[in-house]
Amino acid sequence: MKIHEYQGKEILKKYGVAVPRSIPAFSVDEAVEAATKLGGPVWVVKAQIHAGGRGKGGGVKVAKSIDDVRARASEILGMQLVTHQTSPEGQKVRRLLIEDGADIKKELYVGMVVDRVTQHVTLMASSEGGMDIEEVAAHTPEKIFKVAIDPATGLTDAEADEIAAKIGVPSASVPQARAAFQGLYKAFWDTDASLAEINPLILTGKGDVIALDAKLNFDSNALFRHPEIVAYRDLDEEDPAEIEASKFDLAYISLDGDIGCLVNGAGLAMATMDTIKLFGGEPANFLDVGGGATTEKVTEAFKIMLKNPHLKAILVNIFGGIMKCDTIAEGVIAASRAVSLKVPLVVRMKGTNEEIGRKLLAESGLPIISANNMTEAGEKVVAAARGNAVH
Ligand code: ADP
Ligand code: MG
Repeated sequence: MKIHEYQGKEILKKYGVAVPRSIPAFSVDEAVEAATKLGGPVWVVKAQIHAGGRGKGGGVKVAKSIDDVRARASEILGMQLVTHQTSPEGQKVRRLLIEDGADIKKELYVGMVVDRVTQHVTLMASSEGGMDIEEVAAHTPEKIFKVAIDPATGLTDAEADEIAAKIGVPSASVPQARAAFQGLYKAFWDTDASLAEINPLILTGKGDVIALDAKLNFDSNALFRHPEIVAYRDLDEEDPAEIEASKFDLAYISLDGDIGCLVNGAGLAMATMDTIKLFGGEPANFLDVGGGATTEKVTEAFKIMLKNPHLKAILVNIFGGIMKCDTIAEGVIAASRAVSLKVPLVVRMKGTNEEIGRKLLAESGLPIISANNMTEAGEKVVAAARGNAVH
């Protein structure tokens, strides 16, 4: 789950990470009120959306007077902000953050993830903050320093200080950098975050160390123990299809292609998407209906896929283990009838009761294209999406 920058800063502040004074605003009047309260003389008006790259996209603007704040806020609020992390249509800006303008001397980067190779929470830091850290990683990886954190000790003073020195924090500012790193680690750990990034972490002219941005993602599987994090959820920022799918306990992720896939098991879903791509198609979604898919669940899954205007064909790929193929076939037939399916449907089923399942599909009278293996399924669904359905 993602949250906004201003919410991330609220969390970081509680953990002793220094952040600028700021006030969120939901309207231009609120923005002006916030700026008046902060007092200036320089403010930054920041679009709040669940995507980075806002600065480059025109969603972060400096204002030097209250009138300027009003103008910038009117400009940004309601705009479709396009960044490298949004869809090409961009994301509508519904919230702003009005923040004290900071005196930036140097922009640094600090981030934290779970490194699956070392099985440790890993702190990454770089002197090259502000810009895309992906660029730094690709072109000058030697400028990114990492430390795998021992959960028994947490991030030690020595480790924090060493990293601070490596990224060029002057010695007088090291204690503040240490507090920022350790606060970030503690926040990450306590909230079951999956990603925590401060980009940029700045050094000011006076030598203070301040988090100018905050990006926190949380492990959805741990949200049940963090109601305070769940309260930060902003459904406006989430994909409507994914929200709908989560109500039915379907693991669904929208993608850019035109071939819908309905699969049981995450691994098989990944393999199915790979197969579609291998034959030149593009998946419209990832969808794992799980082990206990009922007719109702399958029907909902079809409805969600069919809401996508780009959808040209659907591939159902089921491995019948505990779940029997005839049960799935019944679900697919009922769902196809319930939604009066308009796009070609390719079904590949393997495993328990596959003969019975295939017979049910064949006798249903529905124009279902059957496939015997992954290759056939991939070829047939890609052809069907291009208007060349082969039964
Ligand atoms: P994003 O990463 O989405 O582009 P940031 O919050 O990192 O958004 O802002 C982009 C850039 O805008 C920063 O790298 C910094 O140079 C500048 N900036 C952001 N907040 C402030 C602030 N409070 N004062 C001065 N400059 C800021
Ligand atoms: Mg940033």
